[in-house]
Amino acid sequence: MTDTAGRTRLAQSDPDIFLALKGEEARQRAGLELIPSENYAFPEVLTLLGSAFTNKYAEGYPGRRYYGGQEYTDRIETLARDRARALFRAEHANVQPLSGSPMNQAVYLGLLEPGETILAMDLSHGGHLTHGAPVSHMGRLFNFVRYKTDPATGAIDFEALRKVARETRPKLVVCGYSSYPRDYDYADFKRVADEVDALTMADVSHIGGLIAANVMRNPLDAGFDIMTTTTHKSLRGPRGGLILCKERFAKKIDASVFPGLQGGPHMNQVAAAATTFRLAAMPAFQDYARTVLANAKALAAALVKRQTKLVTGGTDNHLMVIDTVASFSLNGAEAQEALDRVGLTSNKQVIPDDPNPPMRPSGLRLGTPAATARGMGADEMEEIAAIIAGTLAARGDSAAEAEFASRTRALTARFPVPGL
Ligand SMILES: *Cc1c(COP(=O)(O)O)cnc(C)c1O
Repeated sequence: MTDTAGRTRLAQSDPDIFLALKGEEARQRAGLELIPSENYAFPEVLTLLGSAFTNKYAEGYPGRRYYGGQEYTDRIETLARDRARALFRAEHANVQPLSGSPMNQAVYLGLLEPGETILAMDLSHGGHLTHGAPVSHMGRLFNFVRYKTDPATGAIDFEALRKVARETRPKLVVCGYSSYPRDYDYADFKRVADEVDALTMADVSHIGGLIAANVMRNPLDAGFDIMTTTTHKSLRGPRGGLILCKERFAKKIDASVFPGLQGGPHMNQVAAAATTFRLAAMPAFQDYARTVLANAKALAAALVKRQTKLVTGGTDNHLMVIDTVASFSLNGAEAQEALDRVGLTSNKQVIPDDPNPPMRPSGLRLGTPAATARGMGADEMEEIAAIIAGTLAARGDSAAEAEFASRTRALTARFPVPGL
């Protein structure tokens, strides 16, 4: 974006990729991103990702590297760790996980032996693939046991959780989610885990930015042993993972990330994460995070007003799940494609105990972090809800879709994409 010389060269040396880059930039400008795990990175992040730090190997940790030339890599990684600890009130931080999945793998493999039991939320109730999906390698290596939510309210039945914990004696209790529209009290998980001497881990990948801004609860304040988060979702940083833990796990976690699981860290990503943690500590980011939550409430209310049925009836965080079958007699894939045609990007989603398969599920997931990063507020949420409900009710009518597509373009034209 900023590197004009590199772009000019790219246009000549690889026109196919250059055209795809231009196409993606135009798509991001003209369309609207409503996938709750996506965001527009801070412009500083885009600059650092394309910086000289991408050239450097830095296996090891600050002060203990395998190669020379680490004056500046040590500086950025030390800053990244110190800033992450301060931002999240953590005793120890590891900033090297290449993304969210290796971040969680490093925790499981560092603290548990293969075959040991992990208690985690059912995937159709909002848990993530890395919480033991049968198709994931972690699902084969460890014995995952499930707990569920009440689909009407989203509440977790902690009595049932305690019963499963007593029966299965997990070594680790995991909470956290990718598709759960509510919040909970982490102390309730901690109490259950303590009763069976299990460790506690909160994977706050989706809401890391909202916790950093202190607009959602921080599991570490409730005494959790481990907290993991991606840095590219609500935090608006580079694609990457962050592990925060108590000091007594620091050695095991660091050794598990490197050399246990990974080789050289991506230092361009570490530099961008360091800057992200600085920006996330600023008052402007707290305003942003508050608006993400207010916008989610406004979007949910505006959808419900238009006869849309939401899983649990609403939201306490940045995301919501529409039951598209109940609301519009469309499966989630059909709904996602219809919204794509009017310039709104969303994703199909399984709902709790979904009778339909993951590629044709009963729901659609929406979130507000990206729209809020463009500067949108309550009025825009009302318009977005009207476009969504109108498009889904039109059920493929192309004249109606053309009309809604032009309303999306009118909306996005007023809100530039940060950094593009
Ligand atoms: C996104 C996410 C991850 C994985 O992140 P990737 O960077 O896609 O590997 C892990 N856990 C949760 C809860 C997530 O939402």
